[in-house]
Amino acid sequence: MNPLLTPFDTAPFSKIENAHFKPAFLQAMKDARAEIDQITANKAEPSFENTIEALEFTGQQLDRISSVFFNLNSAETNEEIQKIAQEISPLLSEFSNDITLNEALFKRIKTVYDQKDSLDLTIEQHTLLDKKYKSFSRNGANLNDDKKKRLREIDSELSKLKLNFGENTLAETNKYEKHLTNESDLDGLPEGEKEAAAQMAKSKEKEGWVITLDYPSYIPFMKYAKNRELRKELSLAFGSKAFHNDELDNQENVLKIANLRFERANLLGYKTHAHFVLEERMAETPEKVHKFLNELLEKAKPAAGKEFAQLEDFAKELDHIDRLEKWDGSYYSEKLKQKLFNLDDEKLKPYFKLENVISGVFKIAEKLFDLRFEEVTDIDKYNEEVKTYKVYDTSNNFISVFYADFHPRKGKRGGAWMTSYKSQYQRNGENVRPHISNVCNFTRSTPSKPSLLTFNEVTTLFHEFGHGLHGMLANTTYPSLSGTSVFWDFVELPSQVMENWCYEKEALELFATHYETGKVIPMELVQKIKESATFQEGMQTLRQLSFGLLDMSWHGIDPTSIKNVKQHETEAFKGTTLYPDTPETCMSTAFAHIFQGGYSSGYYSYKWAEVLDADAFAYFKEKGIFNKEVATKFKDNVLSKGGTENPMVLYKRFRGAEPKVEALLERAGLLN
Ligand SMILES: [Zn+2]
Repeated sequence: MNPLLTPFDTAPFSKIENAHFKPAFLQAMKDARAEIDQITANKAEPSFENTIEALEFTGQQLDRISSVFFNLNSAETNEEIQKIAQEISPLLSEFSNDITLNEALFKRIKTVYDQKDSLDLTIEQHTLLDKKYKSFSRNGANLNDDKKKRLREIDSELSKLKLNFGENTLAETNKYEKHLTNESDLDGLPEGEKEAAAQMAKSKEKEGWVITLDYPSYIPFMKYAKNRELRKELSLAFGSKAFHNDELDNQENVLKIANLRFERANLLGYKTHAHFVLEERMAETPEKVHKFLNELLEKAKPAAGKEFAQLEDFAKELDHIDRLEKWDGSYYSEKLKQKLFNLDDEKLKPYFKLENVISGVFKIAEKLFDLRFEEVTDIDKYNEEVKTYKVYDTSNNFISVFYADFHPRKGKRGGAWMTSYKSQYQRNGENVRPHISNVCNFTRSTPSKPSLLTFNEVTTLFHEFGHGLHGMLANTTYPSLSGTSVFWDFVELPSQVMENWCYEKEALELFATHYETGKVIPMELVQKIKESATFQEGMQTLRQLSFGLLDMSWHGIDPTSIKNVKQHETEAFKGTTLYPDTPETCMSTAFAHIFQGGYSSGYYSYKWAEVLDADAFAYFKEKGIFNKEVATKFKDNVLSKGGTENPMVLYKRFRGAEPKVEALLERAGLLN
């Protein structure tokens, strides 16, 4: 018996063998296709129930198998699983393409969609209908055959260009290395960083030290290395990736990608690529994104100017630097930060024992949302280290299963994330509860010390737990609208808002106690954490805004007349620059977020989410950070609602008004 093809509640990890995955995927895809065939073969007139709702509940088994498999591929993988992933992924894309290209199915969906105003649907049903229809129309289902053909050509061309863009940046990163044989060239670097550089040299069978353009090597070097000439060399190398007019140059790729995206959007009836993307975002239109970015820019600019002047004065005083350059920023900022705050992780870590932080976040969830976390041993897990919980409300109703997997292991990718093994939904009168997981890579305990978290790890834990709550508290009818299935620029609200509790005395008192003495963290330390968190916030904001504006400059207009990438970029950056320009560098040719990844017309959402979380938390601050009324409003209107309604509507119902930038400006110290 294949345990993946037998109905299961929590994932039956201990029974699953790698050999089970492929046959399970194949069978589940076959079954899902049969379910869809049943919909299209239905002789009855298309209705919401027999078409939209029926489609929503197809392939449930496939979804569960996929989540078990891909979650394992992230948290507990091995070569065999990776090989299966490579075999299965194309089959899964083919499967979903076959659905979006299924004309008989689209015909039925369109029939229902065209009657949408006369149907007696709930708001959630309206949202589902709209979402299903758009998943077809946005892929060209309404186009004639010629245009459909062109759309496929564009899509295939775009995926090749994006791949090539990524290959070029990677090759450029790997190609460069700075080999140092004189130890004084590493002056300023902490011992650990020096060792890493020596290790890097050794791995390349070289004497001395090697610095590369990979973040773990490049970032510390720019932060600590005293040698200004070397910092300049590294900085220019980093900033000119795929901008050397050679076979690894990305300028052509950038222009082609921007133009093809524009053509694709036009084919589908949108003015620009950004119009196409933003249709499914809280921000809605490029005009609103521009307004948003420019409003913040105007407010952040004076502070950024002051901070830059302060940094330049500091550099002058310290090293007689007459003009601050790009390669000086990180170095002098680190020095200035040390001087102002003298705050390092080692001072804070004793107050953040992992077990205390976990019980702290649970207590906060209890105070705010009436949740109780009970650790259990009867849930199957994929690794002994994973902790399993059952979550209940105060009336002992079962809310969710919660998995927590905290430490790095071979086979787990880096970073931290929330995921789910089972979505919440309601069907046939039953409210099926979700299975949610948080996966992190926190410092392990040692024989002499428990696991003590850096402050950054503490906020990460709260962040992922916030996503977790969004999943756990979901209370919708349809699985594809449940939990974190919301617009992209809304999904970080629950996670980022949770981070705010890490800075509050009332919350820290619940868990931030010294692992040896049991003393609560001193408030002057907390104050320092707060102040250092907004260090150079103006300059940081300006930087983020410049990336958002660059993104919009490529995607929010007709790009056909752009011929020179660097020139276009310089124009887009005008108004956000602090450092002198370096003609040999170019951001766009290595801006993977927007030209390779999925952030095109979406870079603004980092700041957007900050505005949301600051505005939401300001409401808590106003009424009390554990105020039940505000928390309940947040639960009822945001956390439980998933993507069932437009996020602005949900937000306004919680907050009573649209989000304003003021709370963020205040938190960031940018108001004066
Ligand atoms: Zn997040």
